[in-house]
Amino acid sequence: MTELVKDSPLIPFVWQQDYWNQLTEQHRSGRLPHALLLAGAQGIGKYHLARAMAAYLLCRQPGKTACGNCASCSLFYAGTHPDLMEVMPESEGKQIKIEQIRKLQTFANKTAQQGGFRVVILQPADAMNINAANALLKNLEEPGDNVLFILLSHRLNAVMATIKSRCQQFSLPVPDKELALDWLGRHLSSHGALHAEKLLRMAQGNPLLAQELADEALHKQRDKLFFAMENLTRGGDPVELAPGFIEGNLQWTLRWMQQWLNDWCRWMVTQDESDLSFPDMLPLYRQWQHSSDLEKARLLFQEVGYLRTQLLSGANPNIQLAMEALLIRWVDKMLL
Ligand SMILES: [Zn+2]
Repeated sequence: MTELVKDSPLIPFVWQQDYWNQLTEQHRSGRLPHALLLAGAQGIGKYHLARAMAAYLLCRQPGKTACGNCASCSLFYAGTHPDLMEVMPESEGKQIKIEQIRKLQTFANKTAQQGGFRVVILQPADAMNINAANALLKNLEEPGDNVLFILLSHRLNAVMATIKSRCQQFSLPVPDKELALDWLGRHLSSHGALHAEKLLRMAQGNPLLAQELADEALHKQRDKLFFAMENLTRGGDPVELAPGFIEGNLQWTLRWMQQWLNDWCRWMVTQDESDLSFPDMLPLYRQWQHSSDLEKARLLFQEVGYLRTQLLSGANPNIQLAMEALLIRWVDKMLL
């Protein structure tokens, strides 16, 4: 097994170089805004870019990136830098609370302990209730000196317009395929690297998601999900099959269900098998072709999305019942 290359948290990913140059140039010329909003798909490294930028601004002797050697960089590495604050929901799927924004305000209004910048990284910028968002807005309107807010979101349309309007937005694209494959090849085990292309395709081109997908447990979950969907397509009972659909990481399961629908719709239009994100699904796609159409798939996609959003926003539906209902709809839309 080859040794895995660890990324320096101080250096942006290779596909982020243009954005990095732009940001550091803005900083050098004194034109860096008080707030940045980094948007783009999940798994392209927005958080990594935000951390690298924070380290760069905090570093005592930065070159093209943070130096990695100074006292400030040591604090950054140790995760104890007093002038860096990260704000995120207390658990996945929950919202950022107003108490957290109040702590952020205290932080942003004091003087930097190391005498330079203070940086706040807040994510996801779409997971704030109206009170928290309004409180944050005040800070964005009247930021202290030498404070940078870096907000992250992969659901830009769910970020409040007033927040967006006070930030400089960067919409980060999905990386170039060659760059992504090169990076993946160096970050997967030698076994995983053999499947880099397949993993990247399944992750819709997002390298960090592809890396996550190489995880053995997730791999098994997807195989099980595939067999459960095969059973459903063969006429299995949705209620009996539902437990198989809620095993493991439910966000991934729902994401795959949406991706299958997307993949199927594209294939229905192009009939191009070489372009499939999930070639192993082709036998099922062929069966759905006889009993469904694009409009039904679109409606179903929305229903899967609704359940995903419910879970992401911290709602706590009865998962067994919700999945049974979703699978009954799946049969109705795709198989009858
Ligand atoms: Zn340094």
